[in-house]
Amino acid sequence: MARNLSAYDATTLREVWAARRMSLTPYDRSGVWRFRELIAPLDLDEMTARGEGNTGLYPADALARWVGVASLHLKHEGENPTGSFKDRGMTAGVSVARRLGASTVACASTGNTSASLASYAAIAGLGCLVLVPAGQHTSAAKLSQALAYGAKTLAIHGDFDRALVLVQALASELDLYLLNSVNPWRLEGQKSIMYETLEALAWDAPDWIVLPGGNLGNTSAFTKALLEMYELGLIARLPRIAVVQAAGASPFAASYAGGWARLQPVRADTIATAIRIGDPVNHPKASAGVRALDGVVTTATDTEIMDAKALVDRAGIGCEPASAAGIAGLRKLRREGEIAADARVVAVLTGHLLKDPAATASYHAGAAEYANPPIEVDADEDSIRAALGAL
Ligand SMILES: *Cc1c(COP(=O)(O)O)cnc(C)c1O
Repeated sequence: MARNLSAYDATTLREVWAARRMSLTPYDRSGVWRFRELIAPLDLDEMTARGEGNTGLYPADALARWVGVASLHLKHEGENPTGSFKDRGMTAGVSVARRLGASTVACASTGNTSASLASYAAIAGLGCLVLVPAGQHTSAAKLSQALAYGAKTLAIHGDFDRALVLVQALASELDLYLLNSVNPWRLEGQKSIMYETLEALAWDAPDWIVLPGGNLGNTSAFTKALLEMYELGLIARLPRIAVVQAAGASPFAASYAGGWARLQPVRADTIATAIRIGDPVNHPKASAGVRALDGVVTTATDTEIMDAKALVDRAGIGCEPASAAGIAGLRKLRREGEIAADARVVAVLTGHLLKDPAATASYHAGAAEYANPPIEVDADEDSIRAALGAL
């Protein structure tokens, strides 16, 4: 397909994208399809969209002080329709699935991918099969979304990495269109997080973009988007990128620490179930992207993750545990001097506070550093006065 180069001129793109925000067409207003020149060459009637993207970018001054940087903005991807950034990838992936004539879409998931795919498949009228780890490692909130949207849901006696191997092995035999982040259209949709963020910053790139890393789809998508924006002249300089893994699921961080040594899969374990991944499929693309942006990869322990989450929550924004890994890692990189005190930082919160209520409730019920435990009182005025007096 011959590309009309003038349509990719930076000034033209900025104007076209800004104008679409005023449009009444759902695809123009979508925070993904508004940027469609850089996402996927589909016709509008092929798209399955439900108002994804257009998420908030919040200044977080108290959190910036806690972390120790001059400026911190939180891009809250939990504000997507099913509560995580996965919707940006799924609107692209499911639209392409329809175009290709697929009848059933499928994924392995730690929870959010299945919640999102189940919703978009229902809208598109496609069959949907999801494989999630059985038991405590999939949050009840996420599992309930997949069930409610009507996906055929297999809770397997194995972890996410095993589920992904199985669904990949069976995809062609069962004629399934696979929508894990091995699917390149997912990543194309997720690039819009960076377009939207940079547009909101008037195309003035921050010093750092910080995000959690699990299967490394976002790491791949963000670095690709930033390099494309730089190449097209939409931004005048490249930010650096900091990827944060949970300490118990950190093969990418280990590869980085070993001078980009060959990635050694691990048996993953962390409270941040969305990044409980030991063999990230996107690591080749992600490592190329991190290198191109002079990026860093680090880890955060579960305690650091949950303390950071408590402060993101208390700031009035809120996120699920995996999202807070980014903030915990940012604080660590700042303390180690990797990130400077005068840095301008954007951290991406990947999922909504309500995605994992059990993790939040158990943090606040315990003796954690920032716990805000509920106070049980008898149902009379004196008891309430006594309880408040003791505060
Ligand atoms: C999927 C997910 C991640 C991990 O993202 P990758 O692109 O796989 O690295 C992090 N946080 C949340 C909330 C997620 O749903």
